[in-house]
Amino acid sequence: MRELHSTDFEKPVPCPSCGEELEASTYIRNAKIEPTPGDISICFTCGAVNQFTEDLKLKACDIDKLPGMPAMQKAEIRRVCAQVKAMRLARKGN
Ligand SMILES: [Zn+2]
Repeated sequence: MRELHSTDFEKPVPCPSCGEELEASTYIRNAKIEPTPGDISICFTCGAVNQFTEDLKLKACDIDKLPGMPAMQKAEIRRVCAQVKAMRLARKGN
């Protein structure tokens, strides 16, 4: 099992989709890397795809409109989003 590293935000950052005040980000690979502008983020509350802005807030992101992102990476993002949304439904008991 791989170890994941989280970076706490200085101030909570609201998800533009669900409004959840996100307190940290977790890099998906085994490394401690802080978010930088342009990085993609998946909200683990609602499954929305967001992107870090220049001031490290989050804006909604359409990965189909991002230039240069490989199709396999887009597929992986969609898979994770679907899992988060499925977990959300399971929590609601639906
Ligand atoms: Zn959200």
